[in-house]
Amino acid sequence: MYGELGLFIDGAWRKSGGGKGEDVINPATEKPLARLPHASKADLDEALESAKQGFAIWRATSAYDRCKIMHKAADLMRERHDAIAKIMVLEQGKPYPEARGEVIVSADIIDWYAEEGRRSYGRIVPGRGKGVRQLVMQEAIGVVAAFTPWNFPVLTPARKVGGALAAGCSLILKASEETPGACVEMVRCFADAGLPKGVLNLVFGVPSEVSEHLLTKDAVRKISFTGSIPVGKHLAQLAAKSMKRTTMELGGHSPVVVFADADPEKAADTIAAFKYRNAGQVCISPTRFYVQEDVYPRFLKRFTEYAKGVKVGDGLEKGVAMGPLANARRLDAMDAFVADAKDRGGKIQTGGTRRGNQGYFYEPTVITDVPDDSKIMTQEPFGPLAPVVTFKTFDEVVERANSLEFGLAAYAFTTSSTTAAAISDALESGMVGVNSIAISTPETPFGGVKESGHGSEGGIEGLGAYLVTKFISQG
Ligand code: NAD
Repeated sequence: MYGELGLFIDGAWRKSGGGKGEDVINPATEKPLARLPHASKADLDEALESAKQGFAIWRATSAYDRCKIMHKAADLMRERHDAIAKIMVLEQGKPYPEARGEVIVSADIIDWYAEEGRRSYGRIVPGRGKGVRQLVMQEAIGVVAAFTPWNFPVLTPARKVGGALAAGCSLILKASEETPGACVEMVRCFADAGLPKGVLNLVFGVPSEVSEHLLTKDAVRKISFTGSIPVGKHLAQLAAKSMKRTTMELGGHSPVVVFADADPEKAADTIAAFKYRNAGQVCISPTRFYVQEDVYPRFLKRFTEYAKGVKVGDGLEKGVAMGPLANARRLDAMDAFVADAKDRGGKIQTGGTRRGNQGYFYEPTVITDVPDDSKIMTQEPFGPLAPVVTFKTFDEVVERANSLEFGLAAYAFTTSSTTAAAISDALESGMVGVNSIAISTPETPFGGVKESGHGSEGGIEGLGAYLVTKFISQG
């Protein structure tokens, strides 16, 4: 079921020139799935040379023709979704329905960008002098280096590949070494759809070595990174040395504010299912729950019941709602969050431990009575932990919700339209869901503020991220 892995450089699959590599591990069994080759420096240089040539070809291809190839690739992704989703479950751990949904949405993203690329309009500005024509043009930025993480092995590459290709850019994509297989299959769809060679290159390696090698090269004009804040800051510094543009989709610590006028059971049902999606390893996962005192007992009861009922297991088993964590690092991180919460007076309502001793399984966990300065309330958990605490007033909860350096996503539940407007204005966040968790669609901008990063993916903003503006004055 798990396919052969390789690097895709200059339109051909290859093993590494250097012979180095690593094993890909199934997080449900801790057993190796396949050997992943790493790119040597020579491989990276070839990918770069190929991307330069690919850019020359692709920027000269009409948006109409680019669109046709992208649609074909999206169709192939849909046709092959079952096989791609199963590979994703094996390497990443998420349940099959989530993996299947991810592949289908990723195809939608490619389709949406394919169409939007045809609407990359400039404008004509009336000149001051007689006969002067002033044109504002949108041009493809150039070769893109894209780095994607392990939590969404196809969705995060699809956002970057879709935006860049629609704009007329070529890419070198370094996907996650821990979850390479599904991305390999996505790239195969583009190759089989007839994408000219060099337009999309896929490499793997030691992340810091690959990024440092590529970011020092003049030909790379844009960096798009999804991952942790420390790595994002490091890459932004490297990019600044040669003034490369960046899009940074970094971590979050999303507050959920449940007001007393909301239906607490309905709010709990909506947000609990969202919490344990991908075992909480989602940058927009709800991670700090502030519930107004009057409805706190009802919300907590329903939320905890939900957590207790989540079926944990191998993502390929029917009925499983939560798979293992993606790697052993996350297990250690969960133990550290829980230990700190307990030390600080936190009460574990359910979960709080690893499940079994094979596979990186962890219990869906609910924690109460934790202080605002505890680890779980201040550091991104990136796992199935839900701290639930109370608040009294609007101003108080806004201050607490905005107190961290993160600003990616936030959620609120209320039946008052006045409160809905006030809380969505007050939260310092790139995305706000009010009575809604639908904050990530192909058509809408996805991105953070504060240390959660800058730039958006999705929406017209996602296309604009790969375009530069040129002004032409013609007398
Ligand atoms: P990490 O910081 O080591 O790595 C995060 C991602 O960045 C990985 O995909 C990794 O391959 C990549 N990376 C690391 N160093 C790099 C470098 N020098 N150049 C290019 N890429 C590099 O952390 P981790 O243990 O893999 O994940 C833990 C934390 O990362 C989580 O707690 C979460 O905050 C964050 N994360 C965020 C997202 C997201 O969607 N924003 C995704 C995955 C991880």
